[in-house]
Amino acid sequence: MTYRIVMLGAPGSGKGTQSKLLAKKLGVETISTGALFREQMAAGTELGQLARFYIDGGNLVPDSVTVPMVEEHFASGIAERGFILDGFPRTVAQALVLDQMLGEENPLTAVLELWVDAEEVVNRLLSRAEVEHRSDDTADVIRNRIEVYRESTKPLHDFYVERGILHEINAMGEIDEVTNRLCSVLRNCVA
Ligand code: AMP
Repeated sequence: MTYRIVMLGAPGSGKGTQSKLLAKKLGVETISTGALFREQMAAGTELGQLARFYIDGGNLVPDSVTVPMVEEHFASGIAERGFILDGFPRTVAQALVLDQMLGEENPLTAVLELWVDAEEVVNRLLSRAEVEHRSDDTADVIRNRIEVYRESTKPLHDFYVERGILHEINAMGEIDEVTNRLCSVLRNCVA
């Protein structure tokens, strides 16, 4: 079974952590656009410098930068091998780009949306700030990222509900518990 999964969830919902754990279980790759941007920023590339301006403000990096970066990754045959996408798509426009990249032969298996309450999100992000020192984990930027999520990314919920592939997962509680909940909505995934 080849899994092609999109992970959705507000900043701080545990998307990155859960994508990695589930990918290990399923034997597929994770593609995190946020992590790709952070690598480019650390390496000081032109793409990284461009992205930093938006990331540090908590805004979305424009599609003219994001889409070619993702397309480059897909060029290596990821659609056939399977994947978990963490952080892409973030808008309906990006979801349409993803459809085109996958084509009719490789449709998405599932879209998993992590749910946490608002207070928990801010607490998680502030404690991550202490450990990871991400430049976009300050209180003001966190507020903007949550707002951007509500406006741009929430419409994706309806988009994938209409497709009949969206699963909402309670992402409160222990990390392993949440991974098992994600696994339980997928066919042939052993918790
Ligand atoms: P993340 O690690 O997923 O929280 O992403 C960190 C930041 O990278 C986001 O706040 C955006 O500024 C940027 N980013 C990540 N993925 C995308 C995307 N698909 N489209 C636009 N910007 C993105």
